[in-house]
Amino acid sequence: MTSVTAYAAPSEAAPLEKTVIERRELGPHDVLIDVAFAGICHSDIHTVRGDWGPRQYPLAPGHEIAGTVAAVGSEVTRHAVGDRVGVGCMVNSCGECRACLRGEEQFCSAGAVFTYGSVDRDGTVTQGGYSEQVVVTETFVVRIPDAIPLDRAAPLLCAGITTYSPLKRWGVGPGSRVAVIGFGGLGHMGVQIAHALGAEVTVLSQTLGKKDDGLRLGADHYHATSDPATFRELRGAFDVILNTVSAEIDLGAHLRLLDVGGTMVCVGLPPAPLPVALNALIGGNRALAGSSIGGIRETQEMLDFCAEHGIAAEIEVIPASEINTAYERVLASDVRYRFVIDAATFA
Ligand code: NAP
Ligand code: ZN
Repeated sequence: MTSVTAYAAPSEAAPLEKTVIERRELGPHDVLIDVAFAGICHSDIHTVRGDWGPRQYPLAPGHEIAGTVAAVGSEVTRHAVGDRVGVGCMVNSCGECRACLRGEEQFCSAGAVFTYGSVDRDGTVTQGGYSEQVVVTETFVVRIPDAIPLDRAAPLLCAGITTYSPLKRWGVGPGSRVAVIGFGGLGHMGVQIAHALGAEVTVLSQTLGKKDDGLRLGADHYHATSDPATFRELRGAFDVILNTVSAEIDLGAHLRLLDVGGTMVCVGLPPAPLPVALNALIGGNRALAGSSIGGIRETQEMLDFCAEHGIAAEIEVIPASEINTAYERVLASDVRYRFVIDAATFA
């Protein structure tokens, strides 16, 4: 075992603090990564604060990891020392079940091992990327294209794939009318990716405060959900709505913005269940769907797509000492558009 410095929550109510965690010795298929940057996903906050159920503490979150390979196990073939690499929300799966063979490791029938707070194959609880180094099995490490700086690449490992995957699955392309609800970490990636796929993109944000950024990042239209006129003017206007909101919203009102046969795909996961307005679904042959991150193959595809289209996250780089302040700003929707921790400040 190797001790590394990390930032972890000691309990669900306490702020994150500097601590020391253990990383396993390199197995034959393991890659040791020097973390350069770790993004702060709203899921980190939901998880450490117990929104999604009880956890084991201390818990170091972080599943948007970008860095360089520091060492490789004896049988590693995919990565070499010095490679620019990323790790997202998963670090292992059985590799043999139908979901894994389809490339959807997040649905592994034996249970995917998530990057933090998950029981690993050796029985230990995984610790995430808010740390100096991570050890990950080579098949869960992806290559970061040279065109994307590591700090702006880190958020792609969750926010990028979580928005790319459903947009692809619902066939978004030229001629698609897409709305993105919530212009935060996921939302600002969804807008850029939907635009690059050729769609006509509308942002539905609580206010018009971030309109200039929305239009700059590829949105064609930008509306405030605090204005009741939005729901009258845009009734039936979209083929696909990507809902990235981390809190409760009126699903029925938003579903009615779909055209007949349209789909709302939810990726935001608020703490409490939302009531579903069945009349808004039935009265328009509309569908309500969910989507969970994306598989490893598709994550590599997304990174290559972003490099090709000149897309990356808009970030605010912070030292580790500002993690708790950043959490409060994310909760206040005051993020433009992803906080990324500079791992040089963990030590
Ligand atoms: P984020 O940066 O905080 O963005 C969420 C956005 O939702 C905010 O910027 C805000 O947008 C909007 N919002 C927040 N509170 C709201 C409220 N009360 N009413 C209406 N809109 C509100 O968070 P994120 O990192 O993008 O994550 C978003 C959600 O996706 C979280 O629940 C996260 O856990 C989840 N997630 C899911 C997956 C998955 O695999 N499905 C993966 C990653 C994250 P405006 O300021 O524009 O209104
Ligand atoms: Zn995430």
